[in-house]
Amino acid sequence: MTTRTACPYCGVGCGVAGVAEGRALTVAGDPAHPANLGRLCSKGSALGSTVGLEGRLLHPAIAGRRASWTEATRLVARRFSEAVARYGPDSVAFYVSGQLLTEDYYAANKLMKGFIGSGNIDTNSRLCMASAVVAHKLAFGADLVPGCYEDLDLADLVIFSGHNAAWTHPVLFRRMETARARGQRHVVIDPRRTDTAEGCDLHLPIAPQTDVRLWNGLLADIIRRGAVDRGYIAAHVSGFADVEAELAGSDQSVHAVAADCGVPAADLETFYRLFAETPRTVSLFSMGANQSTQGVAKGSAIINVHLATGRIGKPGACPFSITGQPNAMGGRETGGMATTLAGHMDFDDVARARVQRFWGAPTLAAAPGLKAVDLFEAVREGRIKALWVMATNPAVSLPDAGRVREALERCPFVVVSDCMAETDTTAFAHVKLPALAWGEKSGTVTNSERRISRQRPLFPAPGEARADWRIVADVATAMGFEGFDWTSPAQVFREWARLTAYENDGRMLNLGPLAGITPDAYEALEPVQWPVTAEGGTPRLFTDGRFQTPDGRARMVPVAARGPAEALDAAYPLALNTGRVRDHWHTLTRTGLAPELCRHAPEPYVELHPADAEPLGIADGRLTRVQTRRGEAVAIARVTDRQRPGAIFLPLHWTEAYAPNGRANPLVAARVDSRSGQPEFKHTPARVRPYRET
Ligand code: SF4
Repeated sequence: MTTRTACPYCGVGCGVAGVAEGRALTVAGDPAHPANLGRLCSKGSALGSTVGLEGRLLHPAIAGRRASWTEATRLVARRFSEAVARYGPDSVAFYVSGQLLTEDYYAANKLMKGFIGSGNIDTNSRLCMASAVVAHKLAFGADLVPGCYEDLDLADLVIFSGHNAAWTHPVLFRRMETARARGQRHVVIDPRRTDTAEGCDLHLPIAPQTDVRLWNGLLADIIRRGAVDRGYIAAHVSGFADVEAELAGSDQSVHAVAADCGVPAADLETFYRLFAETPRTVSLFSMGANQSTQGVAKGSAIINVHLATGRIGKPGACPFSITGQPNAMGGRETGGMATTLAGHMDFDDVARARVQRFWGAPTLAAAPGLKAVDLFEAVREGRIKALWVMATNPAVSLPDAGRVREALERCPFVVVSDCMAETDTTAFAHVKLPALAWGEKSGTVTNSERRISRQRPLFPAPGEARADWRIVADVATAMGFEGFDWTSPAQVFREWARLTAYENDGRMLNLGPLAGITPDAYEALEPVQWPVTAEGGTPRLFTDGRFQTPDGRARMVPVAARGPAEALDAAYPLALNTGRVRDHWHTLTRTGLAPELCRHAPEPYVELHPADAEPLGIADGRLTRVQTRRGEAVAIARVTDRQRPGAIFLPLHWTEAYAPNGRANPLVAARVDSRSGQPEFKHTPARVRPYRET
């Protein structure tokens, strides 16, 4: 029997058609899923190699010994309750994941913000797109993604800003390759000549962290050319004059901008002209833009250009933030981020009272909680007494990961719910709770275009593993809270959909028509984009020029170009950029199981330009030390002119088990964008040395 489900990897959210026999699985792309229309990338195609039970956590464990669910649940409930009673609600925290389903996220957020009464639930999505969230809120009044994948088919020009789509969102990239055949043009803004940049129409290999300068320069150029849509601005946009004044404060000539960005003026001129002449333009932005202390400013600068030209809410025209994880969007929607209450509502009095009423909650978080980096620092400083990590591996994935390990070691009580028994993070757990994995879970995810899809089970639950929403609900009930007596994911989803419609005063995140969905209809739910109306989904937002701000107008936000938080110097003269490789996912817990995926990049490597390698005697293929002020990694040198001189790239995936000396994130400074809390993974001062030299 074929089961239609959704891929667990990236934010494209491809539909997967799977046939299971015992634990064996064959997969194909779901031809009926609108995100991928039958395609799968290498990771999706290899799902069958990753669903074995080897290494799985199948039973609860306390201090390393097997325990019953009852014992483990009671212990977690007691330790969290004791910490709250003794030190207050902000002494506990959840750190959750874009791997969770929307139902899981909803349950965890309800427990933390509604019943424990703290905002301290944050998600690893903080690491991938928190800056875009803030930029959306500033411009549109809420975290609203304007466009849809169809816009990528319709656009005549697609700009990839810090987005190596060919590797990170391959199926979407293939979709655009089809559009290229009919004349769509691609401009790539990226310090690296990535696979996305290879063969594009124009690659702008900007100096690291000069994106704001480039986008501000584009807006200034558009104004000079008279290509601004004055009518659209007059009717729908505020703040244009403020942005114009900000631009006037520095030299915005093409030559000056090109010099600052380190690209040829003629190429920049070509890009600016192309943009001005192409109404159907989509500007994609992803980690390369977001993972920066200027992440919000970059998002705002991109959105400003689209608002000034009225290129939003129209077919083939929008700024488009693409998410990394399969359900990063679900976390943004339900309140999995410390900065949002739930359902895109903030912590204002009206929203707080509304959500408290809806939940019948005894208390409600009064203010946003700690964002990921601050949260682990609070753990390290002893302010957090009990921490629950769900479906993620912060000991590998957070910046300055050595400090995170220190935090986990010091924390009096660490719970980890995960499908894997041994990760770098479970090593610190006092209690391990076995969670269902992909292929066993049932629920929903939302992809980058706001499309909700079902993840359906292909296998029965192994051992004693349970759904995350149920684990949370059982702990909540054991803590003495009511309102967690769901018996199925459909019930959780119905409650979530009801919340989006509850006293809705114009919030676009609205699933109202699904609030009464029957169990059978939930099982059969077809992919649908929110807002959901009686007629169905909504592919494109802002088609009427109305936004979710109090006056309905979008806001342009003045942004100034700044350098990175930590400047290069003589001791550390290279800009270290960490990121993903084509065939691996996060910390290898799943893709590391598939031999066909390990072949592409079997070991840690560092890419560097010949001009940086040769003076140090570093040859291609040789072991190389990558050093920052926080530590060292050892990796194979890939000497290549795909890298800019002065910049190096180190993949993030390797863990203690796979390559303890090749871990990238212990090297990265935990510096964050002050508004989004997103870390600057794309710029840490570094140096390289041949391995023989210490
Ligand atoms: Fe999965 Fe993303 Fe590949 Fe689609 S593009 S198959 S969602 S990893």
